[in-house]
Amino acid sequence: MCRHLGWLGAPRSVASLMLDPPQGLLVQSYAPRRQKHGLMNADGWGAGFFDGSGVPRRWRSDKPLWGDASFASVAPVLSSGCVVTAVRSATIGMPIEPSASAPFTDGRWLLSHNGVVDRAILPLTAAAESAVDSAVLAAMIFARGMDMLGDTIVEVAALDPNARLNILAANGSRMVATTWGDTLSMLRQPDGVVLASEPYDDDPGWSDIPDRHLVTVTGADVELTPLKGSV
Ligand code: GLN
Repeated sequence: MCRHLGWLGAPRSVASLMLDPPQGLLVQSYAPRRQKHGLMNADGWGAGFFDGSGVPRRWRSDKPLWGDASFASVAPVLSSGCVVTAVRSATIGMPIEPSASAPFTDGRWLLSHNGVVDRAILPLTAAAESAVDSAVLAAMIFARGMDMLGDTIVEVAALDPNARLNILAANGSRMVATTWGDTLSMLRQPDGVVLASEPYDDDPGWSDIPDRHLVTVTGADVELTPLKGSV
């Protein structure tokens, strides 16, 4: 399982979200606290954010986050009001290459998948950025449209009951996430909302999102919807 983190709110530096927090993605890359599958996240990382014109920008790697001094140097001056980042623990058999690291994009959304899915049940597509299961799933989600995210997840889970389908996606003004098989926590701050696979510090304001839910963040509004098939 990978770990992902998203921010929607006032502009913040990518470093303040990924690298600086005491239990941020940098520390989660070698010592995650809540990871159920896999020990560490050393197979790559990705930082995605929307620039001032609303264009998604990405910096991805297939190397451990802790070894990238160049990224650590530049991340403090990368600032955005909408950020999607991830560190990766590759599923066995999946390629390890920069294009297999989240976030994936269709040019409008940035999307990360924390989990695993059988590629054989997903539609064949040339739109996937990589052969990794997450990229094929991302292409399917983009093709169906983000308004259908909850339905798409329920449908994929019915075809692959062993799938774990925690998705995190954002488009600059909206952030959406699903829980299906792994952890997700939320921190509401005066100037924005963080969604993360696990809390990046011990702030008592973190709350856990229950499994099999859809979270939609629009501005300061947060909506939590149970997914079909949840109990
Ligand atoms: N299955 C995806 C991959 O191999 C995601 C893995 C994960 O969540 N650890 O990259």
